[in-house]
Amino acid sequence: QAKDAGRSTFCFFHTGMDDIAQERRLLGSELASALEAGELCLHFQPLIAAGTGEPAGFEALLRWQHPTRGLVPPSTFIPIAEQTGLIKAIGGWVIEEACRTASSWPEHLKVAVNLSPAQFEGSSIVEAVRSAITEARLDPQRLELEITESLFIAQPEDVLDKLRQLKGMGISVAMDDFGTGYSSLSYLWKFPFDRLKMDRSFVSAIEHDRIACDILRAISSLGRSLGMSITAEGVETEAQAKFLQGIGCDQLQGFLFSRPLPVENMPVYFLQPVIRRHRGEAGAQPDA
Ligand code: C2E
Ligand code: MG
Ligand code: MG
Ligand code: MG
Repeated sequence: QAKDAGRSTFCFFHTGMDDIAQERRLLGSELASALEAGELCLHFQPLIAAGTGEPAGFEALLRWQHPTRGLVPPSTFIPIAEQTGLIKAIGGWVIEEACRTASSWPEHLKVAVNLSPAQFEGSSIVEAVRSAITEARLDPQRLELEITESLFIAQPEDVLDKLRQLKGMGISVAMDDFGTGYSSLSYLWKFPFDRLKMDRSFVSAIEHDRIACDILRAISSLGRSLGMSITAEGVETEAQAKFLQGIGCDQLQGFLFSRPLPVENMPVYFLQPVIRRHRGEAGAQPDA
C-alpha cells in the first residue's frame, strides 16, 4: 500500500533524509499543477469473472505522466497527494473521469475506483460521488468504490455513516488489499462490504507457501459466508488462477489477464464479451 512505501522511505535513509524531503516538496508542487496541465490520466485493468473468463469490469488506476520524469507510479505520488491535501481535488477528478469513461462501455461492465481516507474527511465525498454519477449518467450499480482498512483508523463512525449513504445510492463498496492492513474483523461485522479483494502478497506466494494458501482459503470462506464477493489481485500465473478459482474467488485481476491499460489501448474484445462468449462455446470446433 502506498502509505507503507512512504514510511519506509523515511525510515531507511537517514543520511539522505533532507534530500528526500526536498524531493517530495518539489514533487508536491509539481503535482499541484499536474491536474490542470492534463498530466494525470487513468489506466484500466480488467476484473475477470472467474467462471467465464470474461471481464466483469475494470479498476481505474491513476497515472502521472510527468513532463521530464516520465511515468511516476501512484505509490510515489499518492502519499504526497494525501499529505498535501491535493488528494481531494485529484480524487474528485478520478471519480468523475472514471464514471465518464465507464458510461461509454457496455452496461454489464462496472468500474472500480480507489478512494483515500483523506477523501472521507469533511463531508464532500458523498456529494462528489453523487454528482459524478449524475453528470456521467452512470447507473450507480455500475460503480464500485475500493477502500482500505486504514480508512477506519480515524472517525470510524463518521466513515461508516458515509459508506452507508453511498451504499444507499446503489453503489457497491469493496475492501481492498484485505489482510495487509489492520485487519480488524469488526469492520466486516459493522459494514456490509459487497466485496473483499485479497491482497497480492498472499496471491504471489500461492505456489510456494502453504500458509499463504490457507490464509487465502480462510479469507475467501469468511467473505463468502458473510455474503461478499471475492476478488484476488495480482494473479500472474495459471496455477494461481486455478487455485483461486478452486477456493471460490469470483473475480481475478492480474497481469496474467492484462496490465492496466490506457483507454485507447483497451482491446475491443474486452468490450464485446458476447461475441467472445460465442467463440468460447464453439471452442472445440474452430470457426463454428
Ligand atoms: P490497488 O488498488 O491495490 O491496485 C492494484 C495494483 O496492483 C495496481 O498498481 C496494479 O497495477 C497492480 N497489479 C495488478 N495486477 C498485478 C499483477 O499481476 N502483478 C503485480 N506485480 N501488480 C499488479 P498501481 O496502479 O501501481 O497502483 C498502486 C496503488 O496505488 C493502488 O493499489 C492504490 O492503492 C493506489 N491508487 C492507484 N490509483 C489510485 C487512485 O485513483 N486513487 C487512490 N486513492 N489510490 C490509487
Ligand atoms: Mg484497488
Ligand atoms: Mg488492491
Ligand atoms: Mg494492492
